[in-house]
Amino acid sequence: TTRMVLPYAFEIAQKVMDYLKQEKTIERVEALGSLRRRVSTIGDIDFAVATKNPKKVIEHFTNYPYKERIIEKGDVSASILISGGRQIDLLIQPLESFGSLLQHFTGSKNHNVHLREYALKKGLSLSEYGIKNLKSKSKSLQKYSSEEDFYKALSLQWITPELREDQGEIETAVKNKLPKLVELTDIKGDFHIHSNFPIEPSHDLGKDSMEEMLEKARQLNYEYLGFSEHNPSTSKHTSKEIYDLLKKRDEKIEQFKSVNKYVRIFKLLEVDILPSGDLAIDNKSLELLDAAIISIHSVFTMGKDEMTQRVLKGLSHKKAKILAHPTGRLLNDRYGYDLDFEKVFEFCKKHNKALEINSWPQRLDLPDTIIKQAVENNVNLVIDSDSHAVSQMELQKYGVFMARRGWATKNDILNTMSYNEIIDWFND
Ligand SMILES: [Zn+2]
Ligand SMILES: [Zn+2]
Repeated sequence: TTRMVLPYAFEIAQKVMDYLKQEKTIERVEALGSLRRRVSTIGDIDFAVATKNPKKVIEHFTNYPYKERIIEKGDVSASILISGGRQIDLLIQPLESFGSLLQHFTGSKNHNVHLREYALKKGLSLSEYGIKNLKSKSKSLQKYSSEEDFYKALSLQWITPELREDQGEIETAVKNKLPKLVELTDIKGDFHIHSNFPIEPSHDLGKDSMEEMLEKARQLNYEYLGFSEHNPSTSKHTSKEIYDLLKKRDEKIEQFKSVNKYVRIFKLLEVDILPSGDLAIDNKSLELLDAAIISIHSVFTMGKDEMTQRVLKGLSHKKAKILAHPTGRLLNDRYGYDLDFEKVFEFCKKHNKALEINSWPQRLDLPDTIIKQAVENNVNLVIDSDSHAVSQMELQKYGVFMARRGWATKNDILNTMSYNEIIDWFND
């Protein structure tokens, strides 16, 4: 079986977790491994549980209504198979050593190897049961109910699971200098929203109305929302027709602006970057927009240099502010195209453009490793859902997970800014 994309695994895990919590003897339950670290693709789903009554918990777990069969049923561990051939494992320990269990099975392997080496230099030996002081005569085991105390015992700041990839997090935690990472509640809006407004787009239209999507934005406590349907099809329409279609959308948005008191609206559009690097629609149409999100949706086969030129030419248009799903990857499906990110970073910094972290489950694009490089290079980022329906507007959390894995703080993410600050950026 292929690895699951994070959002898919996360939702399965959420259901299992909700079910587990019905068993009242469970004191703590947490996901483990790559799921807890929010890696973009996940193998098995593993949980740790703290309880005084393992027998009851195992019984409850193996009775999970959506299981296909029980793989293993032990005294303090069990595995079940759910539909789709996915395996779910459960590990149980008493609460007094739950912190060590969590730390051990969260990984990553590289993080734990480095942590063990670091601990050994202090004469400490780590395991899923706790910490042994090798210098003391008794070599007695110290147990930890919380991970925070486990890391503290090593004179380290607690390291959030998203950072545990041995990418400098241990060295930074020693100095007590881990950054305060961006959180979902910092997000003030979404720039990448496809409504069902009949714009006759080059690619797929959204399913829900602007009105419904604005209502969802209000529920999410957003300050603003950017409508960014795909540009009208250039093969089916003349420039004049394209302008007229956009003008109609413009009028509709103006109507909303006059009645909607809760959520401010940006007039955006997801505009194709043609193989030549030109944008798919002309300047007169682009002038109707507050800004354009630009993206590659065709001719992926260009070489790295050529593709970089294409993207930078597209971004050099003054209306182009955001490069959407910058690598074009589709998880488990296609690799995307190669870009010279050093050049892209330099250009974005110089011209105040932003790279998107697209939260769409199969995209999660930018990838976390490139987010980290972007953050180190002070490149502006935005987190967008690329929603084609109301329910998808909640996907933003996955973009936030990716941003956190890339060490991004609130300051790195532009849609944590206020409406007025965004307007200034668009007009810059
Ligand atoms: Zn797109
Ligand atoms: Zn889109």
